[in-house]
Amino acid sequence: MAADEYDVIVVGGGPAGSTVGSVLTRAGHSVLLFEKEQFPRDHVGESMLPFCYPLFDDLGVRDELARTFVRKPGVRFVDREGAVFTNWCFSHVIKDESFLSFHVDRASLDTILLNNARRLGVEAREGHRVTGVGLDQPDHVTVRTRDNDGTEAEHRARFLVDASGRDAFVGTKFGWREPRPELDRTAVWSHFTGVRMAGGLEEGASVIVYIGEEKKGWIWIFPLGPDRITAGVVMQNSYLRRRRAELLEEGDDDWKTAMLHDELRASPFVTDLLEGTTQALPTMVDGDYSYEVRNHHGRNYAMIGDARGFIDPIFSSGVFLSMKTAYLVGEAVHRHLLDPARDGDVGGEGWGEGSALTKAYEAVDGAYNLVHRMIRLFYDPHAVTWAAIGAEKQVHKAHESAMAVGHYMLAGDFFENHDKYNRFFALLEDRRGFERFREHVVERPEFQDSSCRLPWEVAFGRRLERFSPEEALGFNPEPVTVGGDSEADHGADAP
Ligand SMILES: Cc1cc2nc3c(=O)[nH]c(=O)nc-3n(C[C@H](O)[C@H](O)[C@H](O)COP(=O)(O)OP(=O)(O)OC[C@H]3O[C@@H](n4cnc5c(N)ncnc54)[C@H](O)[C@@H]3O)c2cc1C
Repeated sequence: MAADEYDVIVVGGGPAGSTVGSVLTRAGHSVLLFEKEQFPRDHVGESMLPFCYPLFDDLGVRDELARTFVRKPGVRFVDREGAVFTNWCFSHVIKDESFLSFHVDRASLDTILLNNARRLGVEAREGHRVTGVGLDQPDHVTVRTRDNDGTEAEHRARFLVDASGRDAFVGTKFGWREPRPELDRTAVWSHFTGVRMAGGLEEGASVIVYIGEEKKGWIWIFPLGPDRITAGVVMQNSYLRRRRAELLEEGDDDWKTAMLHDELRASPFVTDLLEGTTQALPTMVDGDYSYEVRNHHGRNYAMIGDARGFIDPIFSSGVFLSMKTAYLVGEAVHRHLLDPARDGDVGGEGWGEGSALTKAYEAVDGAYNLVHRMIRLFYDPHAVTWAAIGAEKQVHKAHESAMAVGHYMLAGDFFENHDKYNRFFALLEDRRGFERFREHVVERPEFQDSSCRLPWEVAFGRRLERFSPEEALGFNPEPVTVGGDSEADHGADAP
């Protein structure tokens, strides 16, 4: 191997890049990773799904995360007035310690993951921007970089993984990036300190508030420490443009901060929460973030994480989708590098049907399509909202099963079981069907809970114990059966 030739070059040191680098270096490959920023750097995307938990555990960072971050037992969807809400607690369906996820400060999380990748063997160079790639050679790729001192260099590897996030380096360079105009939203956000936790935040839950109407948006509030929250508002771009013009006309130089505060206060719950608090980060803006990139993989490259495509963050799914894709694609690249001829790379022509990478992307695309369907449903004004669905009493088996499925999906069960979830979507998408069964909605006591019951000292205590739900919550919630025959039985009655 030439001095500067590696098995794999990774573009980007976010969760996707660190994870794929870790997977590949553990499998014995030499990995060179370039990150344009100097870490730690702030980043949006701070609430993790329970399905991330085994991945953090496998990478060996679970204890550090437990020492550093707030634990997350569930998510609460609330209507704007705060009158109607549904609590989705992961302990209802997950019976091991992974029911507890994390809320993270991304500057810290991404640094932990990148340093861990280095510990495992990845050569990671921060302050190095990838400025060009060449993918047209049959047996190697070339990558050009410029570091913070302006020094340029060229590198070679057998394979390239693009994990450059929403820059989508390869997709943008080759004109493969396509916006999703139906999801044209912008997020404005910051952190606040001096917060008195309430409304589920005091036990570590996420709170998502609908703000609907012209804004077609929502507010997120996640606890990041005993008195610190991240709070953001997501709005349709047409509304944001109009409000920005109005604020600028009124002479408001810092329209971003003015808009953040105005929009957060559209919810009485958030207004009360922000009383007496201090904004602790500059106002951040993340715009135009929903797009799809074509040609996710080829003979010598693959795109993962946001570099593969991104579809609205309402379900806090981005980091899990990125890391799980990094695992699947990392393992497929490993198999390919071991023996390209056996992996469908016939005559060097690329990734034939049945190749490891093609199979990996079948699972990945299925997962992203499922999340996309969830998101379309969230914004469908005729569908039942996630705030209203559990706010009814009485029982019906089909609905009980659907509620359990809803919990699993919110926890992140996108990859293995995406085919199973159509019934739940059918229930939510068909308003009339749902109305017919309104009087039969789930009666399980835990689905009616107004709390996930996580003690404050577990949520905020930075404790290292591996809690099962029984241990952490001090009670034994009745198991809910999902999937397999039982789901099919229940589902047979669905509207
Ligand atoms: C408003 C909003 C809210 C969100 N909320 C959540 C949430 O609550 N939970 C959740 O899980 N997800 C959330 N997400 C999504 C989440 O932020 C992303 O899905 C996740 O960060 C993707 O990880 P990644 O590693 O693919 O990309 P990133 O984390 O963006 O990492 C990519 C890295 O590549 C580097 N890079 C880019 N170009 C180059 C280059 N040319 N050379 C070298 N390095 C480069 C960047 O500096 C960056 O560090 C949210 C997203 C948005 C927009």
